Amino acid sequence: MFADIVVVGGGASGMAAAIGAKEAAPGAEVVIAERLDRVGKKILATGNGRCNLGNLDVSPAHYHGSFRKMSSIISEHPAGDIFRSLGVLCAADEQGRMYPRSNAAATVLSALRMKLAEVGVKEICGFELCTYLRKGDKYELSSYDGQKISCRKLIIAAGGYAAPQYGTDGSIVRLLREKGYKIEKICPAVAPLRVTSESVKGLKGVRVKGIVQAYSGDKLLSAEEGEIQFTENSLSGICVFNMARYFQEYEGSLEIRLDLAPDMTYDELKEYVREQCTKRADYELNDLLTGAFAKNLAVYLVKNTIGRPMTDRIETITDKEVEKLCRSIKDLRFAVTGSSPWKNAQVTAGGVHKSCVGDDLSSLLEKGVYLCGEILDMDGDCGGFNLQWAWASGFTAGRNCGASLKGADR
Ligand SMILES: Cc1cc2nc3c(=O)[nH]c(=O)nc-3n(C[C@H](O)[C@H](O)[C@H](O)COP(=O)(O)OP(=O)(O)OC[C@H]3O[C@@H](n4cnc5c(N)ncnc54)[C@H](O)[C@@H]3O)c2cc1C
Repeated sequence: MFADIVVVGGGASGMAAAIGAKEAAPGAEVVIAERLDRVGKKILATGNGRCNLGNLDVSPAHYHGSFRKMSSIISEHPAGDIFRSLGVLCAADEQGRMYPRSNAAATVLSALRMKLAEVGVKEICGFELCTYLRKGDKYELSSYDGQKISCRKLIIAAGGYAAPQYGTDGSIVRLLREKGYKIEKICPAVAPLRVTSESVKGLKGVRVKGIVQAYSGDKLLSAEEGEIQFTENSLSGICVFNMARYFQEYEGSLEIRLDLAPDMTYDELKEYVREQCTKRADYELNDLLTGAFAKNLAVYLVKNTIGRPMTDRIETITDKEVEKLCRSIKDLRFAVTGSSPWKNAQVTAGGVHKSCVGDDLSSLLEKGVYLCGEILDMDGDCGGFNLQWAWASGFTAGRNCGASLKGADR
């Protein structure tokens, strides 16, 4: 089979690239080659099924990686405008996170697929790219099961390593490395962080609001306020997700510190705990903090800080122990032992380095190849920033690729 342009990967950036390519070259044959049985499967899982498709904030502050300097293409393609043109009404919450007004990711996917059909993009599913070779002025693509497609231009939109259950296992990143592309160190981003199960024993299922800080030694890397969730061996929640990418750089020294009483000063907290020591004097240590925290967390804090039988009476607690307890409520520390498995990660940090790609998102190593989306070394914070990059980089790569076709092929 032959097509003018083949887009490898039918995810968010691949669909945007195919639409962009057709807009720039309406006469060209544009094909999406997707390994799974349907395009856009990951989109349906985004935002807990609601698809947080963008954010009103388009500033570079929410992006990381060597493509950060290219975040201007996001302000040129705001998600709200893209989806309005596809007939999808969006609404933003107080943090600027944009969702389809229907609150259903299926709305987003069906609008994209309607547009693909309208402009005449073909979807070929069940084509898992194994490799591609330059033959004359064309590329020949081969799938693992022996299918072949040749094309004039190639757009690589095959994603990263995160969430392999949706088709992204990093195989194309490895292929590009073999072809000589510089690949920035890969690591899960927007993901839970692993800690020892001993350090969170008894906290599984607990959710608490607080301030989360990431440290390496004495260096504060980042701080965010929000809800922290505990599992049997990890810390989770949006504010933790946003710190996962630091594991790439600070493996071995990364520490998460929690302030579980951000609304109180240390002295106010101490006053409160002392008051409880008097009011609840006849009760067990187990009950000391249950007026401030969920039972499991209240018991965990006292047990891990004071280290005495929890059946001891509250009146036995010393001033020093109260101070120690308040210090740990304001500064509870967890050494990070690992990042989460890829199946629990939402995004890949790292990928194809900017030094291999021009500002038009064409490859500087292979003529006629364009790249977009998560395969590139750019990851955003949680909050719609990653899909925003996928749509914007996809449209940019697609339009530039379409425009690069010679007159007769367009
Ligand atoms: C559970 C979950 C929730 C998320 N929620 C949000 C959210 O609400 N907001 C947000 O901004 N971001 C969210 N993200 C992140 C966001 O979905 C991704 O950053 C975005 O989809 C990346 O787009 P992409 O097109 O680069 O890659 P993908 O969407 O991953 O698409 C890549 C496509 O390439 C295909 N492919 C891979 N290898 C091959 C091959 N060899 N041959 C052919 N095809 C191949 C894959 O099957 C896939 O369809 C979420 C991610 C997950 C996993």
